[in-house]
Amino acid sequence: MEEKVLLEVNQLKKYFPVKAGVFKKTVGYVKAVDEISFYIKEGETLGLVGESGCGKSTTGATILRLEEATSGEVKYQGKDVLGLNKKEMREMRKEMQIIFQDPYASLNPRMTVADIVGEPLDIHNLVDNKKERNERVRELLDSVGLTAEQMNRYPHEFSGGQRQRIGVARALAVSPKLIIADEPVSALDVSIQAQVINILQDLQREYGLTYLFIAHDLSVVKHISDRVAVMYLGKIVEMTDKEDLYNNPLHPYTQSLLSAIPIPDPTVNNERIILEGDVPSPVNPPSGCRFHPRCPKAMEVCSEAVPEFKEYDDGHFAACHLLD
Ligand code: SF4
Repeated sequence: MEEKVLLEVNQLKKYFPVKAGVFKKTVGYVKAVDEISFYIKEGETLGLVGESGCGKSTTGATILRLEEATSGEVKYQGKDVLGLNKKEMREMRKEMQIIFQDPYASLNPRMTVADIVGEPLDIHNLVDNKKERNERVRELLDSVGLTAEQMNRYPHEFSGGQRQRIGVARALAVSPKLIIADEPVSALDVSIQAQVINILQDLQREYGLTYLFIAHDLSVVKHISDRVAVMYLGKIVEMTDKEDLYNNPLHPYTQSLLSAIPIPDPTVNNERIILEGDVPSPVNPPSGCRFHPRCPKAMEVCSEAVPEFKEYDDGHFAACHLLD
């Protein structure tokens, strides 16, 4: 059976104006997300990876309209998300939820766990009375490995990993289909990261969830993703299924990210590709291919022409002049 596309993003653009002077005139734009396109099929996980400042979190926020897009299209089950009015968007939020990187900052410190997890149930009128609410909160906590006894405690009484579980339980309260996980494990110890990722995978199997999993390094998304998209300075530079990306990366940027992952087998020769310089500013991104000032394989054409994001193999997309 053909898998259905749940989310489709076409030519999505988010520019933030840069203001200066007494009159706060717009003097430029931060091109945080610059015409990116991808899709996520029902029940799959798309990893979205790139260094900090590449626009991956802005992509997530723009899909959910926590930021308004500058242009482009977001379709959820074929429905135009960017064109929804406030009331329709509120309904849509039952379908799409977000989990943030820092569970401590995203959980209200003055609310008990029962209220944090129960709040979305109240907002969307999903329970009729207190008893029903408590039961549902218990179920939700149980699904992320927390106990009913912990319901009346406050966020500061929990460890980082437990707080992220509370964030996941809250996101699940409205029974969403799509979860945008914005660096959900980056702030956690490596040993705890695996636990949270395992919970997310169990929940995906149990509830048929679809994930957009945002992370800044390829080793974190390797385990959980079905497909991976690599972002650099507002653009997706490569996208394909996981095996293909890790075994046959086409883009020099992906190749350099992969070379940074330590390989436990000492017989495998994985020469590290060190990139020169920092990520340039997205206010005035480099001409042509945005990666050209740091690319070890750059050619003359790279600073002149923008490489097209094209399909080179079945479902394997990349944007690089070397491939033409
Ligand atoms: Fe490197 Fe040129 Fe390819 Fe960009 S287009 S990744 S600069 S080779």
